[in-house]
Amino acid sequence: MSYRHILVAVCVAALAVMPRGAMGAKGRDRPYLGYVLATAEAASDEQVEQIWRLAENVLEPHDPAPGPHRLVITRATLRRLRALNISVRVERTDVQAWIDGLYREADKPTPAPQAAATFGPFFSRVRPLDSIYAYMDELATLSQGRASVVVLGQSFQGRDIKAMRISAGAGTNRPAIIVIGTQHAREWASPVVTMGLMDALVRQYDSDPQVKRVVDNLEIYINPVNNPDGYVATFNGRRLQRRNMNSECNVDLNRNYDTAWGQGVGWSCDSDTFPGAAPFSESESQAIQGLVESLARPALLIDYHSTAAQVMIPFAFTMTPAPNLARNRQLCQLYSSALQSVHGTHYPARPGFELAQGAGGGAFDWFRATHAESIVVELGGGAGFSISNQQIIPFAEENFVAWLAVAQTLVDQTLSASAPTSVVGASALAGLDAVPAPAPAEQTGCAFVPQARTSTAVNGLFGLGVLVVALALRRRRAAHRRV
Ligand SMILES: [Zn+2]
Repeated sequence: MSYRHILVAVCVAALAVMPRGAMGAKGRDRPYLGYVLATAEAASDEQVEQIWRLAENVLEPHDPAPGPHRLVITRATLRRLRALNISVRVERTDVQAWIDGLYREADKPTPAPQAAATFGPFFSRVRPLDSIYAYMDELATLSQGRASVVVLGQSFQGRDIKAMRISAGAGTNRPAIIVIGTQHAREWASPVVTMGLMDALVRQYDSDPQVKRVVDNLEIYINPVNNPDGYVATFNGRRLQRRNMNSECNVDLNRNYDTAWGQGVGWSCDSDTFPGAAPFSESESQAIQGLVESLARPALLIDYHSTAAQVMIPFAFTMTPAPNLARNRQLCQLYSSALQSVHGTHYPARPGFELAQGAGGGAFDWFRATHAESIVVELGGGAGFSISNQQIIPFAEENFVAWLAVAQTLVDQTLSASAPTSVVGASALAGLDAVPAPAPAEQTGCAFVPQARTSTAVNGLFGLGVLVVALALRRRRAAHRRV
């Protein structure tokens, strides 16, 4: 062996035992080396704009607004912000170690749930995309024809965007509920909950009359991971990836819809709320648009995010509530109270504007403006948009109960000839200016406030439906306590 060969062998051996820098456990990238976690105080609209233009990751607030901003940024960005006279306080300098810790927690083995439990071993941890897609195939096979996997389109990087269609009756003219999850890749509670809905609707059809009733009378589409490229990236080291992986500029998919598009967003390519080059410029949002527009009766859209822990009432882009909002409000309130009945978790129902501060281009605003009722569920969760393995099953359980309560009211309305499904219609936005400004009590909370435009008959019927659902919930809650 020559001297040169020996040198190469020594170098290879040294590399093998060196601590990993750019590559972490499980072969993950470590892109946050050198980043800091900091709080910047935005004292003016101009500083808000500067922060959202320069910061690599904004953890809080939800959308551009004056006040404190929690950021994960490079030291170069820290210097730039301070040079603009923005007050920035560094909280930790070991961001990569923090991210490594989040991955370690997620990778920890968790005991599989007991065989008799509502949710099985799939729900012992947050699952990567390939596991989610494999489990969807498994559920479709189990469903005896009631569920099928449909491909809504392809992501920027060419991955399938998959949804599960669940429906037991013949024909396709029944009201449809569309469920979207994981538009924002890092919000790991979202795929947990959307997969929980899918699992329960397939596996509990024969044992739960409420599930059977919903599946027999509605068309249900669940798209658990709307942003597959970003989601895969969050498993490969880019844990804080929010947007899609468009190589020109990553796009915030929930700012890419065609209602108030471009309002209240960050226009820099680096901004976490960059809305894309045009409305529906991204194949991921086109996939939802295509699905909704292919349906005979799109009746309700529920979009899951985290971690603000609240139920959002449309609209987010304006303080003015959506027209004919009473029923939509009731659905939000029902979701909130039904969820609380399971484990005591309280997600208050609030106008979306309070959180989104007027940001436009969201999926739920678009659906509400052009089709029918919509709800955003901002799930809870931990730091770094995580969900602990111990939280997974409670999240799945309580959101399934809440979702089912809302779906039951849709069935109630469908089965009643005197109460047609409330479809908002494409002209909803046109009437917006005519809607009087809400009273303060109406703006906060999702109170049962009947509006003049809603007929007494519809409200009465809805109230009866809510009462029936509440009684059913009480029984279901008792059952939960027994197991
Ligand atoms: Zn989100």
